[in-house]
Amino acid sequence: MLAAVMKGVGQVVLEEVPEPVVQKPTDVIIKVTATAICTSDVHIVDGYFPPSPPFILGHEFIGVVRAAGSAVTRFKEGDRVAVPPLPFCGACDNCREGNLGQCMHAAPFGSGATWGNIPGGLADYVRVPHADSCMMEIPAALSDEQALFVGDMLTTGYFAADNCAMKPGDTLAVFGAGPVGLCAVHAARLSGPSRVILIDILQNRLELGLKMGATDIINAAEEDVLPKIMELTNGRGVSAAIEAVGHPATVGAAVQSLGAGGVLSVVGLFPGNIDFPIQTLLMKNASMKIGLASLDNMRRLMTLVEAGKLDATPLITHRMPLADFEKAYTIFEKKEENVVKVLLEP
Ligand code: NAD
Ligand code: ZN
Repeated sequence: MLAAVMKGVGQVVLEEVPEPVVQKPTDVIIKVTATAICTSDVHIVDGYFPPSPPFILGHEFIGVVRAAGSAVTRFKEGDRVAVPPLPFCGACDNCREGNLGQCMHAAPFGSGATWGNIPGGLADYVRVPHADSCMMEIPAALSDEQALFVGDMLTTGYFAADNCAMKPGDTLAVFGAGPVGLCAVHAARLSGPSRVILIDILQNRLELGLKMGATDIINAAEEDVLPKIMELTNGRGVSAAIEAVGHPATVGAAVQSLGAGGVLSVVGLFPGNIDFPIQTLLMKNASMKIGLASLDNMRRLMTLVEAGKLDATPLITHRMPLADFEKAYTIFEKKEENVVKVLLEP
């Protein structure tokens, strides 16, 4: 089968690899029907985390069950399924306390031996461990496009917005109008904010943000961000700010943008630890939430997509066969052709 393999820092190629097989009774093998490159994949390839190549990349995919281990009871061949970025076991202490993303018996797909060595989903087929626990069926009414982002982009955007604990009428600033920031903007609407201010340096992404729920946009390449946010919030600063870039400068700006008692919600990934303006946060009596997306929201999000309350399909700017992975990776990584997300079809 074809798979995107990380070979070394800065190096990812599409190549022929053996198809996965059921290894444990709790495994399923799925035929991937739609998959996408996540910016976290780009960070992995760039060496943000200690890499251990070679391994198959990818943690954002959906598919159809092709084979199931003897202990799998919830799924059978032919079922359409959505898969989270990390195949949690559902049984360890962390999972039982609802912290599925910190499962003690699983690791993220497509991150190499340092992180548990579970081959990823930028491939024709993928082995899903703990399938009964972590997979969910895709409602028949939903297309692959509608279901694909439930596992990562929508989950992360919702997590970022939910962490802001907004009340109706609150104001929100979202730094970064990439797929994650756009999904945060989109999910934030569920809390009834009076203003959602989206900040980026790419005009096409900001304009997409207006369609997905932003009330105001600021192009940081053309305008001073903080005075504009103060003007839009009557000098108070925002009730909450989401950092969805992964850069020290936008963390700083997000903290600056907060009003008294505000909440900083960080989902951007960083190349390592950074200087953090803890004093500014303290002086505002502000608080911070940060982390990897909480995977227990997938079912809720699938329901919201099915009900037409959330729709992440506008993120898809490109559709390509998996065979064109290398071209897709370059376009995505370099943000060419006004790309937001590339849907890859194996
Ligand atoms: P992305 O690179 O597409 O988006 C980042 C955006 O920030 C881009 O649109 C870029 O133009 C913008 N930007 C750059 N400099 C800026 C500045 N100075 N001011 C304002 N905007 C600026 O990435 P994405 O796919 O949206 O992901 C965002 C981050 O979230 C990444 O770091 C990714 O790894 C991370 N992520 C985290 C989780 C999690 O669970 N916490 C899950 C998925 C992704
Ligand atoms: Zn991701």
